[in-house]
Amino acid sequence: MLELHCHTTCSDGVLTPEALVALAKQRGVRALAITDHDTMAGWDRAIAAAGETLEIVPGLELSTVHNDRSLHILGFYPNRAVLAKPLQDRIAGRHRRAQAMVAKLAKLGCPIQLPDLPDDAAPGRPHIAAALVAAGYVKTQQAAFNHWLGERGPAYVPYEPLSAVDGIQMLLNCGAVPVWAHPYLFRGGTVATVLPELVAAGLMGVEVYHPHHSPSDIRHLEAACDRDGLLMTGGSDYHGPTKEPSRGYVNLNGLGLSLDLLPPLKQAAAELKQRCGAAG
Ligand code: AMP
Ligand code: ZN
Ligand code: FE
Ligand code: FE
Repeated sequence: MLELHCHTTCSDGVLTPEALVALAKQRGVRALAITDHDTMAGWDRAIAAAGETLEIVPGLELSTVHNDRSLHILGFYPNRAVLAKPLQDRIAGRHRRAQAMVAKLAKLGCPIQLPDLPDDAAPGRPHIAAALVAAGYVKTQQAAFNHWLGERGPAYVPYEPLSAVDGIQMLLNCGAVPVWAHPYLFRGGTVATVLPELVAAGLMGVEVYHPHHSPSDIRHLEAACDRDGLLMTGGSDYHGPTKEPSRGYVNLNGLGLSLDLLPPLKQAAAELKQRCGAAG
């Protein structure tokens, strides 16, 4: 079966790429996308660990801003050499943003220490939530989000500016297939209004299957993809085993998605690279 949305310790996942690959094999996954936030750092380790029985789909989850709210775009099969430079700026921006959130928390009376992450790893709010739990300010990461880190919380800092339109262009420029991640988690507009805006910018697919999507959300997205000729993807958005199972959490391969979703995505990536030869 298929997993097209997973995180590792290269961003805010709990499992190393090696451990994620081991779990994927154990749980019967045949193709596994590594889609860390704003970094490709996990690919090589996953590929080395995967061997013959598990196909690794190279990807990322690009963080953008649309209507003042965070909007995530998955990119599949990017040309690594072309994407490396623009992504380096985004990762550096994430390190600055994490420090800015730490500074806000200190002013709010909650000084914390961030974990040391390599330069090519992407720090995110879950790292800060974990540090708040470790320091004893809250019992759960969810409480840290509720008190401080939610998009309207007092310690929240948005991503450094990258519009969804520019983000889609960045992905297309490096031959990556841009797919709107978890559309029903977006808080800056309805799917009905935002999807056409993203399609006009070059969006090629939609993450239809996601643990936070209800059966009716899924039906709406399937219909929209059929209507607009968009690719459909899905995944558990796996961040690792958790002591705090929250609404929508599923285990790796918990959605049991069909491998049939993969060939159209691959074909679209190949066509895209043919069209813009430089990105190949
Ligand atoms: P960031 O990209 O740094 O803003 O962090 C986004 C990540 O934070 C998501 O991928 C989730 O893992 C986590 N997250 C976002 N919102 C919440 C929330 N309300 N409660 C718990 N975790 C959240
Ligand atoms: Zn995440
Ligand atoms: Fe996301
Ligand atoms: Fe994600």
